[in-house]
Amino acid sequence: MDREYDALIVGARVAGATLAILLGDAGYRVLLVDRAAFPSPTLSTHYFRGGRGVTVLKRVGVLDAVLARGCPPLTCQYNYRDGEAEPVVNPAQSPGEIDYCLSVRRETLDYLLVQRARRCPSITLLENTRVTAVMQEQGRVVGARLMMPEGERAVWAGITVGADGRRSFIAHAVGAPDEESDDAYRAVYYCYLRDFPGPGGKAPDGPEFSRIEDEIAYVFPSDDGVACVALSVNLPTFRWLRQRPRERFGERIVAHRGLAGRFAAATCEGRLLGCGPERNYVRVPIGPGWALVGDAGMHQDPWSGHGIDKATVHATLLADALAQWFSGRVSEQEALASYHAQRNEDGLASYRQTVVLAKDLRQLAAE
Ligand SMILES: Cc1cc2nc3c(=O)[nH]c(=O)nc-3n(C[C@H](O)[C@H](O)[C@H](O)COP(=O)(O)OP(=O)(O)OC[C@H]3O[C@@H](n4cnc5c(N)ncnc54)[C@H](O)[C@@H]3O)c2cc1C
Repeated sequence: MDREYDALIVGARVAGATLAILLGDAGYRVLLVDRAAFPSPTLSTHYFRGGRGVTVLKRVGVLDAVLARGCPPLTCQYNYRDGEAEPVVNPAQSPGEIDYCLSVRRETLDYLLVQRARRCPSITLLENTRVTAVMQEQGRVVGARLMMPEGERAVWAGITVGADGRRSFIAHAVGAPDEESDDAYRAVYYCYLRDFPGPGGKAPDGPEFSRIEDEIAYVFPSDDGVACVALSVNLPTFRWLRQRPRERFGERIVAHRGLAGRFAAATCEGRLLGCGPERNYVRVPIGPGWALVGDAGMHQDPWSGHGIDKATVHATLLADALAQWFSGRVSEQEALASYHAQRNEDGLASYRQTVVLAKDLRQLAAE
């Protein structure tokens, strides 16, 4: 059977859309599918760093469109020790040459990436399309079966990539083993607030991090003038909080003295959102005819905010490796092994650090 596509990419958010754009721009035939239709929200806060995710947005040509949505460049950060009222001002984390970090709601960010992919002639985008089975021949993945609104369809591809997130269908279908696995230690709640100025009432120019014991409250100034206010809590606090989430979330946020007054004065938009404890893992991200990128291959507790940076940076590593293989410079095995090694070199240290600290954020005081 002829391959219809060089790459079938399952999942069209930060990992999948980034990979599709890079391969599509290089002239490879890409089928990008997602069971969602964009714009589409997803459960996630969305702070990412200048030298990481922001640099990738620039590389794929969506940074200007993202900035046009009004997300302030985050050129510094504010840290409140022990929930104190006054912050220490620190430089932005990993700002890179771009020199600022960003926070962009996922409905906005993912949509702008998908729109960019849609404009690339060698990418076919199918929304409302779910992958229901992986097709294999002689131990090699050769494509997948899709369930579309029009009915079922089989697709053959040189590589099938799972960019399908934490509950990756592709990872399960190919039996991708864990390289590392750790229990869940924390949960996150967050909401959006309007009229939430920066510290001292000035225009927001940095994220805010306020730690009290084993809990962190965050403020991420985001697109369209909203601030994302979030709370990472340990499991006993999660069990207490989830009984009356809205009321107890507010109770915890106002315990952070640097945020309390602005939180009380701001207008909440929409619901309180929450994500319970989720296992941490690193999966083997490659095999014959398949690869995993983003959360499908590596997921760590969100408290440290590394997921978008890794999804986008690792998509560039995979795109570069696949281009080497597709152009005949290296074999498939060499290309995928090189991606695996580079992904781990980039991501393992922060995975491990995130998991160790997730057990008790009081360890941050010693850092
Ligand atoms: C509460 C919370 C807060 C977070 N905060 C931050 C933060 O501040 N900063 C940060 O960097 N990271 C954060 N993260 C992590 C971040 O959300 C993830 O790392 C990131 O979304 C991973 O992107 P992805 O593209 O790999 O997968 P996802 O964003 O999960 O996208 C996967 C896509 O695959 C599609 N899909 C799944 N299965 C199928 C199928 N069978 N067929 C077709 N499509 C399918 C889904 O519809 C989805 O669109 C947070 C996560 C959570 C839960």
